[in-house]
Amino acid sequence: MDNLKNYYGRLWTESQLDDDLKKHAQTLPAMTEKFPYFICNRCGSKNSRDNSLPDGSVYCRSCLVFGRISSREKLFYFEQQTFPEIEALRWQGQLTPFQQSVSDSLRKAVKNKENILVHAVTGAGKTEMIYGTLDDTLRQGKAAALVSPRVDVCLELYKRLSRDFSCSISLLHGESETYERSPLVIATTHQLLRFYQAFDLLIVDEVDAFPFVDNKMLHYALDHCLKSDGTRVYLTATSTEQLDRQIKQGQLKKLHLARRFHAKPLVVPQTVWLNFSLEKADKQKLPARFLRYVRKQRQSRFPLLIFFPHIELGLRFTESLKKYFPDESIDFISSLSPDRLEKVEQFRNGQIQMLVSTTILERGVTFPGVDVFVMVANHRLFTKTALIQIAGRVGRSQNRPTGTLIFFHNGLNKAIKKAVFEIKEMNRKGGFK
Ligand SMILES: [Zn+2]
Repeated sequence: MDNLKNYYGRLWTESQLDDDLKKHAQTLPAMTEKFPYFICNRCGSKNSRDNSLPDGSVYCRSCLVFGRISSREKLFYFEQQTFPEIEALRWQGQLTPFQQSVSDSLRKAVKNKENILVHAVTGAGKTEMIYGTLDDTLRQGKAAALVSPRVDVCLELYKRLSRDFSCSISLLHGESETYERSPLVIATTHQLLRFYQAFDLLIVDEVDAFPFVDNKMLHYALDHCLKSDGTRVYLTATSTEQLDRQIKQGQLKKLHLARRFHAKPLVVPQTVWLNFSLEKADKQKLPARFLRYVRKQRQSRFPLLIFFPHIELGLRFTESLKKYFPDESIDFISSLSPDRLEKVEQFRNGQIQMLVSTTILERGVTFPGVDVFVMVANHRLFTKTALIQIAGRVGRSQNRPTGTLIFFHNGLNKAIKKAVFEIKEMNRKGGFK
């Protein structure tokens, strides 16, 4: 039999366990019938009789990727056990007074089992602010999970927390290794479907990001992976209407951090009209006006990150750009780039000077001293939230708290106007004019 401890707090289908393991497990029905539907008890989805198997049972299509379950089966789980009490925090850094105050409030709230939303501007240093709370949890032998809808954010968090905490940490995503029992789990939100009443503390980073936002299945996963007396913390730079509603109803308490860690204001985007549309992106020629902006930026020698709303055309745009700037090292990444992590690293250490990216880099990444251009900022993929996040990539370093930030567009739209307005508004809340 496998090491039983790796099963604690986790949920399994019948076919995933041998008979020996099943003896140690507790069960719940895989589905609950609510005529005319069958509700999946792993992911909460409604299934109609259309999803029938030859034996007449109904299976859940939504969470099929985690192993098929049908209405005639049971789900198996192993009750979570406590961990050894450990002192795992080895981070030596200093919080700013703003971060310290949020960190203190967060620790107090989690102690009182209050659910929290931390609304912190981009570049506020959210990650360091949760260290105190994580440390408290681990010291009590409790289980914590830090999750994000975006796999790249998880990878980045794993890198940082592996450095700053000495305990074992499990990193779970679609292509990760299998789970090894550890008091701290870093995972994509989907992976929570594999857990059952497992965590005392659940921290969701980038809670407003796709695919989490408005996804019922992932919200269900959140509810079920948490112990009944567990606490949840949401982190975001761009709150959602749903979260704001929960705050109004008193289900969530809000902590606000309106200052970046270096205490300088957010960089406000400049909007520039440009005769450039995706249809024309195919052609080799780039607009003279745009090239003037790029040349000027290149004189500064700061790295340039250019957001582009289309994978295929972005690749061709990058090829054109290379022809105009043959001496620069220019590259392109999207969710489809297998080597995107290496490229991100190369951009960070200066081997790549200009990086064209889809919205994949809109959040969760820091490139010190970077300037940012957005092409076709009025494209539908660039929502208000995406634009605020993208803008937040600029001015994150202590050495260069400012930067050039331009939204190129061929028609101002609501998302651009709102993003600019909200950035100014956040600066105002932070005490800047
Ligand atoms: Zn399901």
